Amino acid sequence: MPLGKDYAAQECSIARALEIVGERWTLLVIRDAFYGVRRYKDFLVHLGIPRAVLAARLQTLTDAGILEKRRYQQSPPRDEYVLTDRGVQLWPTVRSLGVWGNAHVPGPELRTFRHAACGTGLGPYGECPACGVVPVPEIEMVPGPGLDPDPADAVSRALLTPKRLLQPLQAELA
Ligand SMILES: [Zn+2]
Repeated sequence: MPLGKDYAAQECSIARALEIVGERWTLLVIRDAFYGVRRYKDFLVHLGIPRAVLAARLQTLTDAGILEKRRYQQSPPRDEYVLTDRGVQLWPTVRSLGVWGNAHVPGPELRTFRHAACGTGLGPYGECPACGVVPVPEIEMVPGPGLDPDPADAVSRALLTPKRLLQPLQAELA
């Protein structure tokens, strides 16, 4: 469901950003892209999202320059979706929402994040307390205690071991 059109009258930068990322599922698609999900069918099984909604969100994100479509197979044609620099810059937003959710909305902690180089858990602002700012590809996602140890889908299984953000899951899914 798109936001009301009168929203476009808002000149606030938050409103402008929400015009792109404020629809239901959109930030979860982006989250999965940080986890290394790239292919339509992998987003589909991991998110449990209706097909039409996923197709629409991928289109919106591609149009907005947050995801880039790359052909990985010619016949039949198949594309994968990779975060652009513009998309990677949404990491602090995704991370902060997770931190806020853990603090204010009760539920299991599924994943934690650490600086791959030194193993230190990231601080509340995504920084490494030991080293400072950590580039996104140097962040390692670590399964948390609340994660289902025996999930039904291959993407969730691939995400049961620590892995760096943005690193494609394809090797684990092959
Ligand atoms: Zn560090």
